[in-house]
Amino acid sequence: MNHEDTIKIIAEQLQARPHNARVSLIRKGISHKVPNAHLEDDKTHKIYVGELNRILKIDPQNRTCTAESGVTFSDLVKETLKHGLVPYTVPELKTITIGGAISGCSVESMSYKYGGFHDSCLEYELVTAKGEILQCSPEKNAEVFQMLHGSFGTLGIITKITFKLHPAKPYVKLTHARYENFADYQQAIQNEYDKPQYDFMDGIIHSPTHFTLCLGTFVDEAPYTSNYEGQKIYYKSTRQKTEDYMKTYDYFFRYDAECHWISRNYGLENPVVRFLFGRWFLSSTNMIKTAKKLRFIFKHLKPEVIVDIFVAMSRFKAFYEFYEKDFDYFPLWIVPYRIARRYDWMNEKFMEGVNDELFIDCAVYGLRQKKGRDYYKMMDEKLLELKGVKTLISHNSYEPETFWQIYNKTKYDHAKKLTDPENIFKDLYQKTHNK
Ligand SMILES: Cc1cc2nc3c(=O)[nH]c(=O)nc-3n(C[C@H](O)[C@H](O)[C@H](O)COP(=O)(O)OP(=O)(O)OC[C@H]3O[C@@H](n4cnc5c(N)ncnc54)[C@H](O)[C@@H]3O)c2cc1C
Repeated sequence: MNHEDTIKIIAEQLQARPHNARVSLIRKGISHKVPNAHLEDDKTHKIYVGELNRILKIDPQNRTCTAESGVTFSDLVKETLKHGLVPYTVPELKTITIGGAISGCSVESMSYKYGGFHDSCLEYELVTAKGEILQCSPEKNAEVFQMLHGSFGTLGIITKITFKLHPAKPYVKLTHARYENFADYQQAIQNEYDKPQYDFMDGIIHSPTHFTLCLGTFVDEAPYTSNYEGQKIYYKSTRQKTEDYMKTYDYFFRYDAECHWISRNYGLENPVVRFLFGRWFLSSTNMIKTAKKLRFIFKHLKPEVIVDIFVAMSRFKAFYEFYEKDFDYFPLWIVPYRIARRYDWMNEKFMEGVNDELFIDCAVYGLRQKKGRDYYKMMDEKLLELKGVKTLISHNSYEPETFWQIYNKTKYDHAKKLTDPENIFKDLYQKTHNK
């Protein structure tokens, strides 16, 4: 079946849905929305999009790629590397798809130069709620193109994406620089942002006295290469090593085996457990799959905190002070992120007074909530105060009025009217708010 036939079948499924039915997508592979027993809604009519997994064209001369939205970054990087190219943003988990990266605001260690995956995209093909095919780009249906970023599947189904590619080399040389206090660490991030000397920058705060900045450069040759899919653990290596080399593919997915460090919550850092059960559980895909299967058993427990927040560099210190005192949970993943142009989904009024181009994505992965505290709520409140925003991959406790102070309702409603006037995909608030 070719691409045209695939989207025709998707459009027909939408047109044939039962009257008034809300819809959701079924695809091959797993979803990286945080498992949440309270949010699952199995009453929706399912639209199958599992065939959207082809890379349609790689153009090495113009350094572009056109692919279907269900292509995973793992498959994509394997193919583009054959041409000495990679996407501008490669989220660190292997089975995140390119459609999911746009809809869910993906980030990674080139984000301090290039922003998120959406920022490298030239064109989207969208199947609207009515089953119409819409081409969107910064020039054509621009209001829809811009709002698809961070729309979490509420504006239609992205079926095809054309995006830019970046030159790559076979290996990455890593330098792990250690800082013992926040001020020096923040300054080091700012310095690399102002005058970049590397290709990649992310960071891991291991403790209040151990801040690591991981700086990477593409290289043609490597004296040795490390691999962190077996007994060795990447995030721990950044505490001990000052230098490392990895194959480029392995570098991009360096956090995958542990799903950052969530594996430790399940005893998977124990060498014996790894040896005996590692092949079944190590990898973000297996861990998320298992968590989803078990979510109904643990419904009574408070969910682990998994959240990505973006705070302006000028407010990073205030955020970190709050985090260290009230969360005190480490490692904390740090991804500097350039917002060259304010995203359309951000509410301009909310962002008034924040003039930074550099934001810091702080990713909290796997915090177990203590009794009597709702860490998601605490984070939501702090973000309001600091004019920070979060990606909506997990729990959202805002009331609608507050939510729409942060996210841009005028622009969202406008795009929604064009692509889903009957709200069959739910709106952004309905889809992401905790019940
Ligand atoms: C444990 C964990 C770790 C993570 N780590 C990282 C990380 O290291 N780096 C990073 O960048 N991100 C990370 N994320 C966030 C991740 O990038 C987003 O959740 C992303 O949206 C996942 O994409 P997916 O392909 O799995 O899509 P899904 O999880 O299946 O879907 C995410 C949302 O996008 C919508 N969507 C998916 N495909 C389409 C489409 N074709 N058209 C329209 N809407 C669509 C879905 O409806 C859904 O609302 C992490 C998330 C989790 C839970």
